[in-house]
Amino acid sequence: MLDRKTALLGLIASLTIISAIIAQQPRTVDAKILSTAGTAKDALPGTWLTYGHSESEQRYSQLKQIDETNVGKLGLAWSAPLPAAPGGRGGTEGTPLMWNNTIYQTMDNSIVYALDARTGEQKWMYNANIDPATPRHMCCGTHNRGLALSEGKLILAANDARLIALDALTGKELWQSKVADINQYYSMTIAPRIAGDKVVIGVGGGEYFIRGFFAAYNLKDGSLAWKFHTVPPKPGEPFEDKAQEEAAKTWTGDWAKYGGGGPVWDGLVYDPDTNLVIAGTGNAEPWPQEMRGIPKSEWGKWDNLYTCSIVAVDAKTGKLKWYYQTVPTDSWDFDSVGGLIMADIQIDGKTRKVIMQAPKSGVFYILDRTNGQFISAAPFVPVNWVTGFDKTKNGRPIINQDAYYDQTNSVVIYPGGGGAHNWAPMSFNPNTGLVYLPYSAGSYTFNAAAAPDPNAGGGAHGLGRGGQDKRTTPMPIWGPQNVGRSGLQARDPKTNEIKWVKPGRGGSTGGGTMTTASNLLFQVAGTTLYAYKADTGDELLALPFNLPGGAPPITYEVDGTQYIGFATGTQFLAMKVGGTAKMPEAPPGGFGRGRGAGKGAPPPPPPADTGKELHGQDKQ
Ligand code: CA
Repeated sequence: MLDRKTALLGLIASLTIISAIIAQQPRTVDAKILSTAGTAKDALPGTWLTYGHSESEQRYSQLKQIDETNVGKLGLAWSAPLPAAPGGRGGTEGTPLMWNNTIYQTMDNSIVYALDARTGEQKWMYNANIDPATPRHMCCGTHNRGLALSEGKLILAANDARLIALDALTGKELWQSKVADINQYYSMTIAPRIAGDKVVIGVGGGEYFIRGFFAAYNLKDGSLAWKFHTVPPKPGEPFEDKAQEEAAKTWTGDWAKYGGGGPVWDGLVYDPDTNLVIAGTGNAEPWPQEMRGIPKSEWGKWDNLYTCSIVAVDAKTGKLKWYYQTVPTDSWDFDSVGGLIMADIQIDGKTRKVIMQAPKSGVFYILDRTNGQFISAAPFVPVNWVTGFDKTKNGRPIINQDAYYDQTNSVVIYPGGGGAHNWAPMSFNPNTGLVYLPYSAGSYTFNAAAAPDPNAGGGAHGLGRGGQDKRTTPMPIWGPQNVGRSGLQARDPKTNEIKWVKPGRGGSTGGGTMTTASNLLFQVAGTTLYAYKADTGDELLALPFNLPGGAPPITYEVDGTQYIGFATGTQFLAMKVGGTAKMPEAPPGGFGRGRGAGKGAPPPPPPADTGKELHGQDKQ
């Protein structure tokens, strides 16, 4: 009897130890868990497992502890240093992930930090050791927008076009894969996305002479699964598939010496409902269509597929399923790469599986993501390059023919050089039914330079400087008139109209937005964290954090406490209700001038409309 009792007690003790060990083991993220991420059925509530929080990329959190009654009491819980890698040239654009009580933050020049999500204590850091020459091969900064997580691996798209898998627990390298050649001016700044057992990425370099693509790699070992080119092969070279053969029919002349462009550096989603990978593609290169071989008599007649498009491919094979071109014959660097959001929305009495994008062109596009069918498009800032959308041609934009330019004819185009909405994430709250979109409005004077030298090694977008629009009758401008130079707008996708708008907000599109089930909307803009009522836009909080380079905010919960967290150029900041840690202080005399938020410089000013030089935000 005694023996049986002892044995039973021993068994209970062993089981207790085993359960304690199991409780300490983090639950491995896989495709199934990712399909629940951020939803009401979240298998790991309180985490932030993928770039846009859910596969739909709504940046909508189920967490409700921080609400309208207490958000005003948000304060700093902890901060942690995030030193930039030497030689970096850019700011902080990375959305962190949060899993296993750990924040994973990418920084300028391909560094990854793992921080304890409760204290900020550094668990490990990883430096991809980018060659110091790499920044010279990137047009617009050595940014990184974040990581993907699945099957115990963190996936980093390093600036020099290497895809790198790290052990999520230790930061040790597991495999590397060369996606493209940095010496051919391909680079990567995109956050990889998981599609089942694959990881999908796209390349930057659209201001150089690249042939753009996005591609899937096997998560297991980093081997290539498929590649979809956004520009056809050079004339005379074999087509990879039917999609390339079709695309080739939309190019003319001697375009191939400049590569064609079509980078994929931000918007990318995996839709498990349809098993599609959907990507936004960037500008055709060089920018003036004449330099891409289109004679003046045929301006606007060659679409240059699949540049400036939303492209859907089969996630297993990479074969084209549908596309919609947001800007046919792009000549204004209107990269259609802004973040894509998927949602199921009632439109005209029907539930539509939509995909939404607000790219640089200043137009908010809504498509049926199952088949690419056009639903609506409308300007979200003043625009003049487009006069409408032809519903008989699946919503094809009707380009204002006066918007084209060459060396002798300059033209003032709305929106301006950095685009009306760049990489700063928008979000969608299914309760309010609204999309929250940071934007900038303005104009830019385009005129063409002499054609660049295709053998110069780098690239050139072919733009002249200092041109003047000499036309006496300006092109008609349409779109909302009450948006100022920049701000935040809530948009109702049912009608594709503004519900409310907050002009200003720090002068640029900032670090983007995130929204919660407790009717809150958060925005990082300038050096301030804002909170609003998600339905009405009433401002509830404007908390200065005094550090430049504020990146996209996330929310997470650990040990029963909800946090708001985001990176800046130099530190990670975690806020909680009643947080008492001392907020960083602004340096005396403010932030010095200079490039690169990672070095303590301020965010760049909003795009100028003088036509002197394009600057400001990403145009990769
Ligand atoms: Ca571009």
